[in-house]
Amino acid sequence: TLRVEHLGKTFGNHEVLKDIDFCVQKGEVISVIGASGSGKSTLLRCINMLETPTSGHVFYHGKVIENKPKEISLYRANVGMVFQSFNLFANMKVLKNCMVGAEKVRKKSESEAKQLAMTFLKKVGMGAYINARPHQLSGGQKQRVAIARALAMEPDVLLFDEPTSALDPEMVGEVLEVIKQLANEGLTMVIVTHEMAFARDVSTRVVFMDKGVIEEEGSPEQIFGHPKSERTKAFLSRFT
Ligand code: ATP
Ligand code: MG
Repeated sequence: TLRVEHLGKTFGNHEVLKDIDFCVQKGEVISVIGASGSGKSTLLRCINMLETPTSGHVFYHGKVIENKPKEISLYRANVGMVFQSFNLFANMKVLKNCMVGAEKVRKKSESEAKQLAMTFLKKVGMGAYINARPHQLSGGQKQRVAIARALAMEPDVLLFDEPTSALDPEMVGEVLEVIKQLANEGLTMVIVTHEMAFARDVSTRVVFMDKGVIEEEGSPEQIFGHPKSERTKAFLSRFT
């Protein structure tokens, strides 16, 4: 479905991603783990074309994604992203937040967009908050709305960049539960996370990044149970 080849990203003279090859097949739930600064967010941002790769290409269904505004907004509907900091539209009610993408990018009618938004808001347990404004919600509620907003675009693949790390501890569980439910339903996802128990539980594949490269990848049993690389072992030993 989604593939990057020879992806490199350099900021100034700092090579943040080095010749990354990575692919996502339909139905996979991939967790990306690794130390702070290893390039996890940059990888997701390049995949989503929020950053222009310095080298290499992103392929979606075998086609190179070109850096053209129209192509990119449609691509981003298909390959959605959920951010650490939610990024809801502060001036719009919850319902409208979840409708605008379907209307503007998917060209749905207002009633179709509303129906989609309602479906996914109910799914994340936020059906009772359609008239609230983002500032009236807790962090966990905002993140669940952000997930509903991404789902209302009917994406093929959903990318999550540390969806729970900006949340108070008591709200982490409700957001992880929603993501787990989506995984069980077969949604294709790539999740950057520091929640190791969660990664072990929901992933079909785990990718460990270190200093801009994919150091090791494999099944959760393999990565968490029998890591081969010394760097993987060293990283994981911090969580036990
Ligand atoms: P964390 O776990 O802290 O989120 P990460 O693995 O997501 O870390 P990135 O955010 O991808 O790491 O950053 C990798 C490196 O690239 C860091 O050294 C960071 O300072 C640098 N970097 C990221 N974005 C930029 C930017 N826009 N300009 C300059 N340097 C950047
Ligand atoms: Mg990051």
